[in-house]
This record gives sequence, structure tokens and C-alpha cells, in this order.
Amino acid sequence: MYYASGNYEAFHNAQKCADADRKSAYIIGSGLAGLSSAAFLVRDAQLPGKNVHILERDPIPGGACDGLKRAHTGYVIRGGREMENHFECLWDLFRSVPSLEEQGSSVLDEYYRLNKRDPNYSLMRATVDRGEDAHTDGKFTLSDKAALSLTKLFLTPNEELYDKKITDVLDPEFFESNFWLYWRTMFAFEPWHSALEMKLYVQRFIHHIGGLPDFSALKFTKYNQYESLIQPLEKYLESKGVQFHYGIEVENVLFDIDKKSGKKVAKRIVAKREGKEDNIDLTEDDLVFITNGSCVDSSVLGDNDNAPVVTVKSGEGDSWDMWKKIAAQDPSFGHPEKFCGDIAASSWESATVTTFDDRIPKYLEKICKRDPFSGKVVTGGIVTVKDSAWLMSYTFNRQPHFKAQKPNELVGWIYALNIDVPGDYIKKPMKECSGREICEEWLYHMGVPEDEIPTLASEAASTIPCMMPYITAFFMPRRKGDRPNVVPEGAVNFAFVGQFAETERDCIFTTEYSVRTGMEAVYTLMDVDRAVPEVWPSCFDIRALLDATNKMMDGKKIYDIELPFIAKIALKEAVKKTKGTVIEELLEQYKLI
Ligand SMILES: Cc1cc2nc3c(=O)[nH]c(=O)nc-3n(C[C@H](O)[C@H](O)[C@H](O)COP(=O)(O)OP(=O)(O)OC[C@H]3O[C@@H](n4cnc5c(N)ncnc54)[C@H](O)[C@@H]3O)c2cc1C
Repeated sequence: MYYASGNYEAFHNAQKCADADRKSAYIIGSGLAGLSSAAFLVRDAQLPGKNVHILERDPIPGGACDGLKRAHTGYVIRGGREMENHFECLWDLFRSVPSLEEQGSSVLDEYYRLNKRDPNYSLMRATVDRGEDAHTDGKFTLSDKAALSLTKLFLTPNEELYDKKITDVLDPEFFESNFWLYWRTMFAFEPWHSALEMKLYVQRFIHHIGGLPDFSALKFTKYNQYESLIQPLEKYLESKGVQFHYGIEVENVLFDIDKKSGKKVAKRIVAKREGKEDNIDLTEDDLVFITNGSCVDSSVLGDNDNAPVVTVKSGEGDSWDMWKKIAAQDPSFGHPEKFCGDIAASSWESATVTTFDDRIPKYLEKICKRDPFSGKVVTGGIVTVKDSAWLMSYTFNRQPHFKAQKPNELVGWIYALNIDVPGDYIKKPMKECSGREICEEWLYHMGVPEDEIPTLASEAASTIPCMMPYITAFFMPRRKGDRPNVVPEGAVNFAFVGQFAETERDCIFTTEYSVRTGMEAVYTLMDVDRAVPEVWPSCFDIRALLDATNKMMDGKKIYDIELPFIAKIALKEAVKKTKGTVIEELLEQYKLI
């Protein structure tokens, strides 16, 4: 497996792998990582589809990428996907997957045209005082000290960030900035999360810094991602003959490990179907793709009248149980307990609200400054309630968000990072609230008059809360070796895929990461003669860096930075030396001098 960027490799179609007809594949998990592994196996390695088996415990595919309608209560999305143009592996995949919306087009074509026609941007990023504009006004408000500590983090080698928290490396002033408000609410970072992941995120999305405050950096699918990504991919795989097996709980994978040579061979998948043993014995020609760990493991739904009740304790859950049994067999298979060991630090809650008439939308319209029923961008990304005790954010994407939605319905998504503290209207922690109570808190922060709130939450909407105890498990502080490499050293016929497999430079909690690990796994195990697209290298592009610097300084010039006298003189001298060079041109172009 090797990386490259550019058209030469991207437009090349891989040749059928020599032993493709002899191989079979067993893919544990039908999330994006598992589905994309299957797709790269049939498209690029050219395994016969009938030899590819997806083993999934749920009755439908998609894992975290969900979207479903519950009878009588309304729609549910545990999350919504903020996406971008440089999801290189994901777009490489979806250029081949036929759209279900536009005949003769790919999912990529459909997505591209939609986001060209109707670009995403927000007209109110944050509110205060019950629905008033918080006037973040596109500013990052980073003090010089805060900006310096962020720059230092950007330049710190990974090794120095092992097991460190964000608060260990960033200046206290950083946490007062709008940058942190935008960042943590957009990506769901908490101060105790991994400093290494924070750095990887800053590097990974450095080309989007200017588009963060108003979300012009983001792009969205037409409907929820189950209908817009998972269903077309499922149909594509079915058309290739890929075999889906639902209701299978994989408990373990057993390996033969030769301690001397380091050769590792997966020998058996230990599984249960409908409570009965259903093991699969493996040869070296049977490849196994293991989705180890899941951010939606043990997530629970409540309903309009009841709060969701989490029953698992830290570390419990099917995907963790399987990974723990696997990890016990070799040190290179990772340390699941680092990620699943503290639910209090890795959980938050979302809620899906369905509104039934125009009583609530009129308040939403005041905030998003658009007609929510127009079919076009509505809030343009999340709106954060800056002064909410729960640190609540909410978003309404283009409507309908579900194909089956009625014309008078809107489906939106609410989430909060501080779920353990009482709300501002509902004097209870979010995690103890029913859907209706969460809706009431939301309506309060949208500026709905207090006497209307209970009626609107009961009659004009239905709200389904969802607790996700492991939603940010992958953000827990970690070090090299905590996540197994996609293909561990010595592995003959197996790979790890998904958010808890280790790959270079990319950052987790993204659809791209799952697809990338699937692509790398297939290309390595099948020796596919085509490059995996490298992570978009903007952190090595001087133009992206200068642009980000200018934006993060809210347009200040480099001479305006507070520096000790000697450093200021040195800076002036250095800039003088660029006179007449391309560097001077760039500094001017990006408004730094
Ligand atoms: C609330 C939320 C918000 C998000 N926001 C964004 C965003 O803005 N942008 C973005 O790009 N991404 C976002 N994501 C992330 C993205 O959706 C996920 O990272 C991705 O879908 C994960 O796919 P996966 O296949 O790696 O894992 P999963 O989707 O977790 O799939 C794992 C699958 O394996 C199955 N499984 C697990 N254990 C077993 C077992 N023992 N036996 C059988 N089957 C098993 C599970 O049932 C599941 O189907 C978000 C996710 C959520 C939940």
C-alpha cells in the first residue's frame, strides 16, 4: 500500500488482483468502514461479490450513519455529518456508487451539484439572551498568548502529545476565545480530550480555518446520511453480489500467532446468531476486516415522555467486548480500555426534533434568517446557544431531511456537551430529561414566550433523545499502540478498520476516516496496484498556512503581534529580507504585511 495525490493515480483503474477469485472476505460491522471495505474489495481488488460477507449484529447496515422513522414518535438521527471536499478516500468511493436520486449520476455528482447550487453558510452562528445574535461576527478573538500556544501545538511532534489533554498544552486564555467556542461545538471536543487529536484536527482542517466561523467550509448530503450515503452504497454492493448477514453477534476472532516469526493468522470468527453458536473457520485465503469499537455502542433512545436510560457501565458494550478479547491475544491489537474506560468523559446526548406545523418554524426562521421550508440550506450548520448551561447547539439541514417527511414537517437535531448540569428553563440535567423537556429548553433559548413553551413542545413537536455513552471515546488521550495499525505487523489475513484503527495523519470522528481505513486495509491485504489518496496535505501548503494565520489573527498584521522588543526587531529584519521575493508577495497576498 502506498500513498499519492494527483490525477495520475486517482484516474487509474486498478487491475484485478492475481488471487482475487481464490479469496473470501468476512467483514465484521456494516458501518461505513465495513461497507467501504466491501466496496474496495469488489471494485479495486475485484473479488467476486459473492465471496464478500458482511456480518452485522443490527437488522440494517450503516452503524453510526443512521436515519430512521419510529412508528408514532417521529424521526431519529443520532448525528448529522459535516463533510468537506477533501474527504479524498470517501469521494474516491462515492464517485463509483450510483445515486438513487439522479439517474445516470454518482453519489459524488449528486452531492457536488447540490452543494454548488445551494452552498452552505450560516447567518447566525451563535445566540445569547434567548435567540439574540451573539455577534461572534466571524471573529476568532484569540489573544496573542492563545494564538501562540495553538501555533506551538501545531508544530509539536506527535510523541510529545501522547496521553496529554488539551488543557495540558493550550494556554488558559485559549479557552476564552471564539475559536474554542466554534471548535468544541463543531467537533465536540472537551477540555480533557486528547491534545494529539486536537493537533491532528488543526493540521487536517487548516485549509478550512477561514470557513469555520460561518460554516462555509462545510458541505452536506441531500437527506440524512442513511438515505444519502448508506442506502446507495448498500444497493451498489448488492448489485455486485455482496452477501449481507444480519443478526450476527461476533464475540471474538481467534488468531494463530507465531511468536518467533511474528506471523499472525486469523483462524476463527467466534459468533452467535439468534443466541446460537455460528463460528466461521478461516484459512489464509479468508480475509477478516474487524471494526473494533464503535462510537454508538450502547446508545439508547428515549421518547417524548421518557429520558433514555444508560444501563451499561464504563467499558461494557458488544464492540468493546469483542475488541477486548481480540486485544488480549497480542500487544499489537491495541488497548480498548483507554477509550471505553470512562463513560462520564466520553458521553453526550443528542435529540431529534420533528415539528408538525408552522408554530415552531417561525421562531427558527428569525434565527436562521431563511425560510426553513424552501428546500435549501436552513441554519447552515449548528447554531450554538452561547449562554446555555448545557452548551446546547442545534441544526436544521435542508428539508425534507427524510424522503418520507410530510411537507409541513421539519426535522432538526439538538445536542449538548454539558449534560450533567441543570438547564436554564428546565432545571434538570439534560441526561435526565424526556424529549419534551429537551424541546422546552430549546424553545426557551429560541426566544419562544414562556407561556407558549409547554404547549408547543407537547403539541407542535415530537422529540426523541439519544444518549451515546461512547460518542467521543476516540477523543480520549492516547499514545502510539493504543489503536491497532490498520494492518498490524505480521498480519496475513486480517485488518482493523473504523475509528479505532491507526492510520497516519487523518483525524477521527469523520466519515472519511472510516472509509480511509477500509481502503488501506483492502489495498494492503490484496496488494492493490493503485495509490490510496494521501490525507489532503494543506498543512504543508504555505498558502493555506498564511491564510489560516491571517484569519486566526482576525486580520491583524504580523507586526501587530505582542512580542518582546528584541523579537519584534528580529521579526522586522526577517520581513525586510523577503523584499522582492515570492515570500514577500505571499505575505502581501495573505494580508500579513
Ligand atoms: C452523533 C454523530 C455525529 C457525527 N458527526 C460527524 C460529522 O459531522 N462528520 C463526519 O464526517 N462524521 C461524523 N460522524 C462520524 C461518522 O458517522 C462515523 O465515524 C462513522 O459513520 C463510523 O463508521 P464505522 O464503520 O467506523 O463505525 P460504526 O458506524 O460504529 O459501525 C460499526 C458497526 O459494527 C457493528 N458491530 C459492532 N460490534 C459488533 C459485533 N461484535 N458483532 C457484529 N457487529 C458489530 C455495529 O452494529 C455497527 O453497525 C458522526 C457520528 C455520530 C454518531
